[in-house]
Amino acid sequence: MKGFEHLEREIRDWRDKGVFRSLTELESDQGSIVTIGGREVIQLSSNNYLGLTTHPRLKETALKAVEAYGAGTGSVRTIAGTFTMHEVFEKKLAQFKHTEAALVFQSGFTANVGVLATILNEEDVVISDALNHASIIDGIRLTKAGRRIYNHVDLDDLKKALEETQGARRRLVVTDGVFSMDGDIAPLPEIVELCERYDAIVMVDDAHASGVMGKNGRGTVDHFDLHGRVHIQVGTLSKAIGVLGGYVAGPQVLRDYLIHRARPFLFSTSHPPAVMAACSEAIDVLMDEPERIDRLWENTRFFKEELNRLGFDTGKSDTPITPVMVGDDALAMQFSDELLEEGVYAQGIAFPTVPRNQARVRTIVTAAHSKEELEQALRAFERAGKKLGII
Ligand code: PMP
Repeated sequence: MKGFEHLEREIRDWRDKGVFRSLTELESDQGSIVTIGGREVIQLSSNNYLGLTTHPRLKETALKAVEAYGAGTGSVRTIAGTFTMHEVFEKKLAQFKHTEAALVFQSGFTANVGVLATILNEEDVVISDALNHASIIDGIRLTKAGRRIYNHVDLDDLKKALEETQGARRRLVVTDGVFSMDGDIAPLPEIVELCERYDAIVMVDDAHASGVMGKNGRGTVDHFDLHGRVHIQVGTLSKAIGVLGGYVAGPQVLRDYLIHRARPFLFSTSHPPAVMAACSEAIDVLMDEPERIDRLWENTRFFKEELNRLGFDTGKSDTPITPVMVGDDALAMQFSDELLEEGVYAQGIAFPTVPRNQARVRTIVTAAHSKEELEQALRAFERAGKKLGII
């Protein structure tokens, strides 16, 4: 099409390389088994860690909220879009996270962008792990602060960065709690110690740790017993919590400031009350059904061990995010297609989402998977892996 020739050229190149993807459509709810193309397949690609997307209590609460408050809010939070449900949920979340306050954003993505682009200025420096999530990277792109990227989980390099930036008014060190593509956990106690020594603010993105790590799923700060020592916790309500949204948990002063200055918060309409009601119910479910988290970890251990026994390389993962390393971009996509043929949906992930030659099929088991489903998935991995020479 005229005017879009440059995009067409790039897309042709992706097709030639075998990395062009169309969106995979789910024709069912988001369970351990989903319907794709009219076929039931085992879902190993969703972030629905605890199976809460379909929890009867969340569905019922959301339905009741729609009945009582309608489908949408009709405004941004700062004008007419703050409903009681938003405030109630934020207080509950702050209590859950053991922080003074919490503020909901439209997504985890906008929460990271909102914080990083808002609270720093040109006198400051942000110091970020090389493998942090795209939303942290974009937040850093938007801030006026100086920036320093340290090598992934490299504490020596972080220390060097802190030493090199001593002239800054303020340093903020930001890290994913659990890294989304490799499933490894940040060395948060050591990061906190360094930040205390060098007087820097610590911010952790717990998108993949909320509902997964710590007591009742409180996240990495709780897991490492660092309450009160991590200044800013960001997270998502769309993964283990099973609904949609993001949040920032921290001091009251941070919440007050973000309400007045964070552009994604100020200029984008608030979540429907049904979303907040379901999120609120999800926190109650975390408290009432901790066995879901135990099951998630049991399934994780089983699946990882069996993949390794079959000869797959699962990288450095310590969490339910288990990459099955392939290397070549096109081969990873082929592996994913082959798995789908075998009845397993496990997304292939290639450059630029992960570095070149580190393409993989990323799997995430959930508390909702039965042992039989995981065994069936493993048989599919074995067949597809052998067929393509990956094992
Ligand atoms: N941070 C990390 C580490 C993530 O993996 C994600 C989700 N891909 C986000 C933030 C963004 O969260 P959300 O999907 O709620 O925008």
